[in-house]
Amino acid sequence: MSTESIIEVALPVPMRRTFDYKVDSLTHCAIGCRVQVPFGRRVMVGIVVAHKDTSDWPIEQVKAVETIFDDVPLWTPNIDKLLRWASQYYQHPVGEVFHHALPKRLRMGDAPDASDIEVWRLTDAGQALTIHDLGRAKKQWKLLSLLSSGPQDKGSITAAGVAKATIDALLEKQWIEQATLSDLPTQKPDSDAPPPTTEQAIAITALQRHLDGFHVTLLEGVTGSGKTRVYLDVIADVIAAGKQALILVPEIGLTPQTLARFRKHLGVHIAVIHSGLNDSERLAAWQAARTGQVSVILGTRSAIFTPMKNPGIIIIDEEHDASYKQQDGFRYHGRDLAVMRAKNEGISLILGSATPSFESFQNALSGRYHHLQLKHRATGGVMPTMNVVDMRQQTLEGPLSAPLIQTMQKHLDAGNQVLVFLNRRGFSPVLLCHECGWFAECGRCERPYTWHKNQRRLTCHHCATERPIPHQCEQCGSTQLLPVGHGTERLQEVIETQFKDFEVARIDRDSTRKKDSFSRIIADIQDGKYQILLGTQMLAKGHDFGKVSLVAMLDIDGALFSNDFRAGEKISQLLTQVSGRAGRAGQPAQVVLQTHYPEHPWVQQLMTEDYSAIAKDLLKEREQALLPPFASLVMVRAEASQDNLVRRFFESAEQIIRQHAPKDVMIMPASPCSMTKKAGKYRWQMPLLSAQRAALQRLLFQCTGLIEKTPEAPKVRWHIDVDPIET
Ligand code: ADP
Ligand code: ZN
Ligand code: ZN
Repeated sequence: MSTESIIEVALPVPMRRTFDYKVDSLTHCAIGCRVQVPFGRRVMVGIVVAHKDTSDWPIEQVKAVETIFDDVPLWTPNIDKLLRWASQYYQHPVGEVFHHALPKRLRMGDAPDASDIEVWRLTDAGQALTIHDLGRAKKQWKLLSLLSSGPQDKGSITAAGVAKATIDALLEKQWIEQATLSDLPTQKPDSDAPPPTTEQAIAITALQRHLDGFHVTLLEGVTGSGKTRVYLDVIADVIAAGKQALILVPEIGLTPQTLARFRKHLGVHIAVIHSGLNDSERLAAWQAARTGQVSVILGTRSAIFTPMKNPGIIIIDEEHDASYKQQDGFRYHGRDLAVMRAKNEGISLILGSATPSFESFQNALSGRYHHLQLKHRATGGVMPTMNVVDMRQQTLEGPLSAPLIQTMQKHLDAGNQVLVFLNRRGFSPVLLCHECGWFAECGRCERPYTWHKNQRRLTCHHCATERPIPHQCEQCGSTQLLPVGHGTERLQEVIETQFKDFEVARIDRDSTRKKDSFSRIIADIQDGKYQILLGTQMLAKGHDFGKVSLVAMLDIDGALFSNDFRAGEKISQLLTQVSGRAGRAGQPAQVVLQTHYPEHPWVQQLMTEDYSAIAKDLLKEREQALLPPFASLVMVRAEASQDNLVRRFFESAEQIIRQHAPKDVMIMPASPCSMTKKAGKYRWQMPLLSAQRAALQRLLFQCTGLIEKTPEAPKVRWHIDVDPIET
């Protein structure tokens, strides 16, 4: 008998299975620890998932573990449980799930650093500086003003768009110095904050009462109702009890402004986890959370996997935001994992939004979640009035109707700011030949190129392919190429011509490409440097622009005719969020919606009802049609460069699924995605629906392995998307 023992290891490979290896002794190789093992001709770092007595493989074929990296697992049993659950629920190989949840340096086998988090803070000399001492060194000033709110770690500094060179320059001048987190004296929480409003106080008390175990609360608060203040007071309680808070914000919500607000109110250091960190910074933040060195962790989607020593609460801000869903590889939903994690940890979870996802809303209505509402704005301001401009037969300046131009003028003359929303970047979405109708099209997606005039390029918004602007029609040689339709760049030209006396800021992915330009523009808007703000949905989210009294929404008609069963939910969220930028400082405010379909039921509803009422109504339709959240949806998707490979894949996949499907799972035939061709690939999908989540899960367990083994499967790229948000 061999003295060796067998362990089962999860490796980051796209196979839905684990692998057996030999170790000398199980006692030094605990479940959850990292090991290095030979795999094929490579070596890989994997996670021990089980100890076994024997292997199903002949023992001489089982290879030995090369290195054991950890004495104790890197994450808690609760995180381990969460990841295993996620692997099953999302039908994703467990090795890849584990891999995803670890900072890169740990995935490579590095030791988690025991060292303290490094921070930068102002020296006395730095504190005494004024902007005049710096002249034109704008970046240095930016870092100095950032540090004036308190010491910051590297993650926070990079989140604010400050480069290493700037840090070095200030270190050299001895205006800032390096310290470690544990050197810092504790700051006082902000005592000049205004008292919570009555509604806020009620919500805070209710939430504080639930801090003792697993509870999910939907905090539904209208835009400007001060949800953040509610979070902050609850977090302060959690910290006082010696526990930690994990807060997730949407990708775009992690601005220096948000951070400064948290830091000022709570008076503690905050670990920031986002995609802009380098590997060491990410590991340091992860480690600080794991060891309990920081009590507040603020991050985007993937921060949900951050271990905590003393977990106290999880908060998901803007819980409806699409950026919580990972759209490739391990396709998880950060919010749904948060529910599972809070349950495993036995702690409270707050889901906050002015426009809750229908999933969360339904859970609140049915009583599964607590439901707290903030119906009034914290500043006392009233919600804006809603108006429609019937676009039919209007005189237009570009996409602006005459009545809208008049209204804009009125608000501007009164000294207010105006926000114009157009969800299409670039100059024009089509460039076509006036002689023959030819238009420039991306061959890989079979969609028109968008003309980006500033960048002098045509860009495909679906696959990012770019090409120079043609001087002539490629079909008839004519030089009369015309832009058709308006994107934000062109709208900017129109607005600048119409409103010569006012400053215009454009906010979209193009205008904010440079590292810190987004937060800079946001700060300039808040300072009142611009009177007209125009942009895409980047403008819609969470920002507090005090002087906006008019919000205009152009060109939403396309959304009224979408095939997506979530179209009604999405458009009401968007409209409510964009409108929510108006009147936040208490001034009377107005929203203008331009449409060619003023009688459309959604338009009618959006004008007269609030989000809750619309959501309740649309939920009834979902219930009748047996769509999510009343049924579980799973999408099987496949793509390949030849259409017939995809067809054949689905022929056999569908057959397998039908053979195993119980009656309560509805199988829809595979069909081309709404964008059939993207980046040169033909794309199809097959929806599976069931009111019995468990039945659907069982079916997937039975079928994924079988589908994987079909001869058609290796010829396509296929995946399963559980609870897809794109349909
Ligand atoms: P939400 O996230 O719910 O849209 P915010 O948290 O951004 O709202 O708050 C909206 C505005 O109200 C902010 O300017 C904030 O400073 C202010 N505010 C929040 N709570 C209070 C309060 N209790 N008293 C006065 N102003 C408040
Ligand atoms: Zn032509
Ligand atoms: Zn393309």
